[in-house]
Amino acid sequence: MTAPVVFPPAADGARLTAFTCGWLTLPLAFFLDGEAGSIRAPVCAFLIEHPKGLCLFDTGLGVRFQRRVDGSGVPDFHFEQGEDIGARLRSVGVDPAAIRFIINSHLHIDHAGGNSFLPNASIIIQEPEWEYALSGADRAYRAKEFDTGQPVIRVRGEHDLHGDGAVMLFPTPGHTPGHQSARVRTAHGDIILAADCCNLRRWLDEMRLPDHAHNAAAYLATLRRLSRMRGEGARIFFGHDPDFWAGVPQHTAFA
Ligand SMILES: [Zn+2]
Repeated sequence: MTAPVVFPPAADGARLTAFTCGWLTLPLAFFLDGEAGSIRAPVCAFLIEHPKGLCLFDTGLGVRFQRRVDGSGVPDFHFEQGEDIGARLRSVGVDPAAIRFIINSHLHIDHAGGNSFLPNASIIIQEPEWEYALSGADRAYRAKEFDTGQPVIRVRGEHDLHGDGAVMLFPTPGHTPGHQSARVRTAHGDIILAADCCNLRRWLDEMRLPDHAHNAAAYLATLRRLSRMRGEGARIFFGHDPDFWAGVPQHTAFA
């Protein structure tokens, strides 16, 4: 048994805005082992507003996947002009240069591909993730997309971003060695930005995993932790769940 999750209370809390930075068509087994068919999954990013600065949780796809003006694109990637994180921020009146922190859940191409749009941010990443991503062991990483010259703050374990409990990062390994999630304390309760430690609601409801994992045992332990947090009242935001995502307001602070 792991100890219950205990985070410090947040004084002011934070506000969240959701963005979709493209969609991916993937075999459903990629998310749910043993299932046939395919799934069209959103690529999600979040603006976290806090009195101490603006932060992004994940940055979506890189522009190499965007459909070009001549109409050509990358098969199974549905990523239009104006859907990159830079454009998404500008559409709600936020200058990408004003972003102070990037929290990358992990460094795969659909979570860190937009880092280059945020020139003045520091990247906050779990140290094992940074090391693994640069090791060359996995082709799902593209260093020139995630390592774009900003300062990199490597953390190990839980990290209280602003020192008041409003944005708590915590390791959620399994999908990758150094995957992390964020608990955001809002005026409407705690929200867990799970990213790829829990892609679909069905993972939690049925304790199921995808057909691939860096470490399946760690993945399941992470799911049990999330399940406990859900039991304690937190709302889980799933990483790539189209049904869940359909109910999340976009481009406006929802919490
Ligand atoms: Zn992903």
